[in-house]
Parts: sequence; structure tokens; C-alpha cells
Amino acid sequence: MRSVCWKLHLFPLAIFAAIACVCICGCSRKGPMFPLDNPTPRADVHSYANPAEWKATRVFLDLDVDFNRKVIRGTALLDLDRGPGSPAPAVVLDTRALKIEKAEWSADSAAGKWNVAKFSVGASDPILGAPLRVEIPPEARAVRIAYESSPGAVALQWLEPAQTTGKKQPFLFSQSQAIQARSWIPLQDSPGIRVTYGAKIRVPGQLRAVMSANTNPFAEDAGGIMLDASTREFHFEQPKPIPSYLIALAVGDLVFANLDPRGGKEGRTGVYAEPSVLPAASKEFTDTEKMVEAVEARFGPYRWGRYDLLVLPPSFPFGGMENPCLTFATPTVIAGDKSLVSLVAHELAHSWSGNLVTNATWRDFWLNEGFTTYIERRILEDIYGKERADMEAVLGYRTLLDELNRLPEKDEILYVDLKGRDPDDGFTEVPYEKGALFLRTLESVVGREKFDHFLRAYFEENAFQSITTQDFLEKLETALFRPDPALESKVPVLQWITQPGVPEGAAIPKSALLDHAAAAAESFAEGKSSASSISFKTWSTQEQLYFLRSLPKSLDAAKMAALDEAFGLTRSGNAEVVAEWLLMAVRNRYAPANPRLERFLVEVGRRKFIKPLYEELVKTPEGRERAAAIYAKARPGYHPMAVATVDGILNPAGK
Ligand SMILES: [Zn+2]
Repeated sequence: MRSVCWKLHLFPLAIFAAIACVCICGCSRKGPMFPLDNPTPRADVHSYANPAEWKATRVFLDLDVDFNRKVIRGTALLDLDRGPGSPAPAVVLDTRALKIEKAEWSADSAAGKWNVAKFSVGASDPILGAPLRVEIPPEARAVRIAYESSPGAVALQWLEPAQTTGKKQPFLFSQSQAIQARSWIPLQDSPGIRVTYGAKIRVPGQLRAVMSANTNPFAEDAGGIMLDASTREFHFEQPKPIPSYLIALAVGDLVFANLDPRGGKEGRTGVYAEPSVLPAASKEFTDTEKMVEAVEARFGPYRWGRYDLLVLPPSFPFGGMENPCLTFATPTVIAGDKSLVSLVAHELAHSWSGNLVTNATWRDFWLNEGFTTYIERRILEDIYGKERADMEAVLGYRTLLDELNRLPEKDEILYVDLKGRDPDDGFTEVPYEKGALFLRTLESVVGREKFDHFLRAYFEENAFQSITTQDFLEKLETALFRPDPALESKVPVLQWITQPGVPEGAAIPKSALLDHAAAAAESFAEGKSSASSISFKTWSTQEQLYFLRSLPKSLDAAKMAALDEAFGLTRSGNAEVVAEWLLMAVRNRYAPANPRLERFLVEVGRRKFIKPLYEELVKTPEGRERAAAIYAKARPGYHPMAVATVDGILNPAGK
């Protein structure tokens, strides 16, 4: 009885609720169409900074680069804005293993009046580093910190001359993403906080410094100013507000070549490299200016002044890093035939997605990488045709499926929860390839013209801002889904963003050329065709890679030898192809490739290549032994981030 009563009692309410629901869903739905269950989407769990109270707006660095002690030493000056109504007794900065020597504050730094400030460095967390708390009065408008980095600073790699291509001069480069800037600069190290920056950098007289700033290689002081017989000073200015992970420095024996068909001073694209690498680099990257123009035509102007590339020594742990005005790139993309320049397209695309419109927190990282991977393929299509772009998309999709097989479900999510974890844990194929596939699916449903229009407006409206996934979803709703309610049933937006796996209806890429390569692999594996009958050598790198990846995991010694003999795989100069082949060689214990494997692992520090090779090696006891022997030689030449990765493979849990 009671339950009947209860139902009767609530009946009018139920009718009211039903009417309200019809009204909300059918006519004027209130609230966001794609709500994320996160009350504080802007809170950055990977920074100690207190930007609501004090927010840095500009950083000025005055630094000496000391190759002997492997430290950077000097001052960082931060201009500050005080939050409205904040009591704000202190500004909190991020640091990691920095030696803080002094802190000062100023109400008028331009007048050069500085006051000593009390400061304290908190306990160090293995992921976040340590907070630096500088006590300042309400009238403060700047702080200046005197400090020194530690020789083990995780952002910095100091190379001995022997580890460079020229073998004569040392080399230094930084890698600040994701949260490593704090290991060489005390600052508010969050992608949600944007600063302009300037710098005075002093280096040994025979070296050249470059930064992610708008420097003109044709300016009179482009080669620096000699202060005395042994010290050269370089000046930099980045007038556009950028997140801290884009502050970058490299110092070495660097020379410059123009890449712009308009000629040096009139142009905007060029390349820096060690002298012996420059000729091959400038030949490989001749399409750079064309690529800039292709993105501009679709998604709006390039807003950063110059676009130059810097080719780093082979120990650079990444393919590329989109440092503004100056992409840092691995030399492993120089294949001699432009077959790996998708990397340039990718880093260039970041000048829009990532550098111009930035993920507000590392949870929103897919906004950087998914958009960039999508735009990268649009650039390739514009410059090299649809077949090339389709092949890259299929290769990417295949990598995504492999990654999804490997990852726990919680990491298959675009809006991945990284609280209490290293943001580097989120650097999987998911933000890149699943993010790109989501955008590709939106494009296929909405139509290219409309989607391009949406993206162009997205970059225009959010230029020089850091945004959250929720912000993006609201823009998607307003610009595309509200005007066309039928879209909601075609693209399960929230499922894409918050659920594991690939939703149904995804615009899966296809390539006839790659289907052909896969068929050739199958025929060879089944013994129906010989290696010499396959036209592998005339194929594109993408077809070659797909062929190798389509072979069965296990191949007998005769088949491995036949492939090597017909295609010259162990000798290949193409880093992508040789890395794939070496992986097969380890898996199938193909001994003739052993010397090449060792040379490759010692010379190259790019994590994308070395990580799977070490992972495959440690699967057997003898492989583990070989991995340890090779790593003993290779480790001194790896970047600290690559060292951390390989240490984790060879000694899991620090055993
Ligand atoms: Zn990227």
C-alpha cells in the first residue's frame, strides 16, 4: 500500500517533470549539450603556482651557459599581475632541483629599484618538483630570482663534442614540455599561464645560441656580440604570450641556411644545423615555405614572424618540438627524399593548434595533438596529394589500434585524468591519433568546407589563449551542433571525449596503395611470392612501413634473410624503415642485424625508436643481457628523458 500511495502522491510531479523534460530537450534546452563532469576544469594539478592571486605576464632571463659545470646560472625576472581583491602575501613558482640564491621584489622594475624578499623552497615531489614561495607586498609588480640549474636538470641535455655530428664543439638543448621548464627557470609552469619573454644569454665565444623567439638571422647582431675574448652574448625577444613549455634554448656550432624562395631578407623560413648537417637539411626541407602558405590559406595567418627549423644532434628524444618560431627537429627525419617531412608539417601545424590555441591543462593535451595531427595530414594532402595523406592516416590508425590493445582503459580516454601522475603518462597515441580521428569524423559528417570554416574561426577567436576541453565542446555546440540538431545522432561527441576505445561511425581512413602492400606481405608470408618479385624498393616509405608491419610477427630465418637480401633493410638509411626492421630482427633473433642494432641504439636517442626496441629485447633472457650491454654504451649519450624511459624498461620499479 505504501508504495501505491507514494506513487499517487508523486504523480503530479512526474507529469510536471515530463513536461519540463519535453520543453528542455525539445525546444529551449538549457545548459551545455556536452557537459563534462569536472567542476574545476582550469585547475592545473601539475603546478604549484597561484595565478588567481599573482600571475606572471612576462619573463626576462639573464643567463650564463656554463659548459664546464653543466649549469645555467643567472636571474629570471617575472612581471606580475595581482588578482582582484587577493590578500596575496606571496607568489608561488614552480622549481625542480634549482639552487635558489636570492629573491627580490620591485614595485617599478623599469626604475631598477629592488628590495630583498623572503623566500622558501618547499618539499620536493618526484613529479612536480618543489614550490618556491616568495613573500611580496601588495604593491609588488615584479620579482627577480637569482638561481642556478643543477647538472642533472631534466630539461637540459649537455652533449660532449664527441656526441655531436661535427665532433668539435659541445652542444646544449632544452626540452621544456611537459613540466620541465621548471628545471631550468623558476616560473609558473602551467600551460594555462601565458607570458611574453626576453633573454640575454652568454655562451662560449665560438658557439651560437638560438631560442624560441622572433630573432632575425639576417640582423646585424644575429651572430651575437663578443663581450670579451671568450664570451658571446645573444639577445632574444618573444613578443607573443606563450605557455612556459614553449620556452626553449639551444647552443652549439650552428649555421643557418635560407629556405624561402623569396630569398633571405624577404623570406621567413630557414634552417639551423651543425655545418656538416646543413646541406642535407636544407635540401630535405625545401617545401617548408609552401607548407606555411598551405596552412595559412586554410586556417588563417601565421602569426609568429619567422618560421625556422633547428636540426639537433641525434640524441634529441623526440621527433620534433614545436618551439615557437623555431621548431626543434631530430636529424632522423632527413631521409634524402622528403619521405619523412610529415614531421615538419606536424610541428608547423602547432603554430596554430598548440602554440596559438593551447591546452589549458595537460588533461586537455588532445586539443594540442589531435588538432595538430589532423592539420598535419591536411598539409600533406595539399602539398603531396590525397594518396600520401591517406597513407599517413592509415599508418596512424594502425598505430592507434596497437596502442589501444596495450593501454589500460583509463588511458584510452581523450579527456584523460592525470591527477597524481606525470603528465608524460598522457603522451600516448591516444591524444594524437584518436584526437585526429575524432576531428576527421566531424569533418566527414559536417562537410569539409563547413569544418574548415569552423576551425578557422576557432583559431581566430581563441588566438593566444589557453582553453579547456569544456571550452572546445561549447564552441562545437554553438558553431555546429545547435544550428544542425541532426548532428547529435551522427557523432557521439561525449563518447569520443570521455570513453575508452573508438566509437562506432568513426571515419576510418583507407588507402588502396597500402592495401596492396599488405596483400604483398601476406603473399610473401604464405610462400606464394618471393621477396625479389616485390617492388619494395620503388615504393614510398609509407608503403614499405606498412608492408613490414603487415608481415606476421614470427618469420623464419630464411624469410628474414630473403627480405634483407632483396631490400637491403639492415643497410637502410631511412630511420623509420630501419627501426621497423630492427624490431623484426630482435623479435626473430636475426643475428646479421645485430651490429646495426647496436649502432642505431647508441647513435639515436629518439624515444619513439629506442623504446620499442628495448621493450622487445628484454622479453628474453639473452635479449635482456644484450640490451644491458648496449645501454651501458648508449646511456651517456641519451637525453635525461630518454634515460628515464629506458631505465624504466631495464629496471622496472627501480629494482
Ligand atoms: Zn605534436
